[in-house]
Amino acid sequence: MNNNIFDFDNRIIQIADSSEKASDNDFRIINEITEFNQRKVLSSFIKNGVSEVDFSTSTGYAYGDRGREKLDKIYAEIFGGEDALVRHSFTCGTHTLAVALYGVLRPGDTILCVTGIPYDTIHGVIGINGKGKGQGTLEDLGIKYRQTELDENGMPDYERIAQDVKTYKPKMVYIQRSRGYSLRPSLSVDEIGKITSTVKNMCDCVVMVDNCYGEFVEKKEPLDVGADIIAGSLIKNAGGGIARSGGYIAGRKDLIELCSYRMTTPGLGREVGATFGENRNMFMGVFNAPHVVGEALKTAVFSASLFSSLGFSVTPEPGEIRHDIIQTVCLGDSEKLIAFCEGMQSGAPVDSFLTPEPWDMPGYDSKVIMAAGTFIMGASIELSADAPLREPYAVWMQGGLNYYSAKAGIMLAAQRMFNKGLIK
Ligand SMILES: *Cc1c(COP(=O)(O)O)cnc(C)c1O
Repeated sequence: MNNNIFDFDNRIIQIADSSEKASDNDFRIINEITEFNQRKVLSSFIKNGVSEVDFSTSTGYAYGDRGREKLDKIYAEIFGGEDALVRHSFTCGTHTLAVALYGVLRPGDTILCVTGIPYDTIHGVIGINGKGKGQGTLEDLGIKYRQTELDENGMPDYERIAQDVKTYKPKMVYIQRSRGYSLRPSLSVDEIGKITSTVKNMCDCVVMVDNCYGEFVEKKEPLDVGADIIAGSLIKNAGGGIARSGGYIAGRKDLIELCSYRMTTPGLGREVGATFGENRNMFMGVFNAPHVVGEALKTAVFSASLFSSLGFSVTPEPGEIRHDIIQTVCLGDSEKLIAFCEGMQSGAPVDSFLTPEPWDMPGYDSKVIMAAGTFIMGASIELSADAPLREPYAVWMQGGLNYYSAKAGIMLAAQRMFNKGLIK
């Protein structure tokens, strides 16, 4: 072992030790959820008789790809739905969510987002604030968008949700589980259940949940508490760090069928779609996902504990119950953000020799710096961090395929700040 790489200052080692000890109870809770979810996944594999033949490759039209069909069934079971679509050919989370939106909504319908402004990349799908105009957004097709703001604590505002449902009579109510890149709390599955029953008491609409970053963080998933359809990315939680790309949609049978016609074409639906040998990675990915999510959660808890010990404000705080894998650390100025990202990058298993630099990322009004040294490009179930260089100079970090390597990455981030005299 090259000792120079992990030649941490004694102060960093001590604070890491005490942070890890202080995380004991949080780790216990995470372990218990991981074991529950691991059994949920394993039992579905056993019940469905997953076998070597399910991993065989298909090309061309790929009618009757058995592995593809079995994986759909397994996802449906795990996430508490009647049916599911899991495809490596969904290019990212945004694409998958868009297929679900276009699959279900029709001209004249209204979609009401009840958790404030949705994740950035969805704006151009819906056509929020004119984004994507002319590209065939929902807005271009005559689908109306309405939004219910969160309350002053960043939580669902049930009274206004009820009022807006009554006023707008939406075809779809849209919920975002994760905080994304905002500072609002992420929603618990119970909270999603409460929104769902509020809405369903008033109208017969479709409740859709953007499930990104939330899979396997709790024992329940949104479909277990009454949501109708969920979607997410396979290079986040659900792919377990093994799926090489893709997404999934799960939920009510009739809705999944509609989505299948959008995914390919009316008439063909889910019957086509070559898997090119990706089935094995997707099966292995979801098999590993509960464990990998547990490792990412432990990494987040450790970081929260370490950086709050160093005097920074963190969300969620140590000891707080988590509903997604994201951890925010408010570092306070751009020098610290840059040092943090440089340190984290230096501990990545891939591209450790690169130095991250702030750049003008399209769609942002300030420069953004990112640290990511991942096996799968852009996979945020692997340890990664993003930080826009603007108030409150916070870094959003997530992932970690295994706790000990991610812990080393976090410690290197702290060490780099220490070396530059940015922490005492
Ligand atoms: C990641 C994410 C998406 C989709 O983003 P992609 O980069 O397209 O995968 C959508 N919503 C939320 C909350 C997300 O975290």
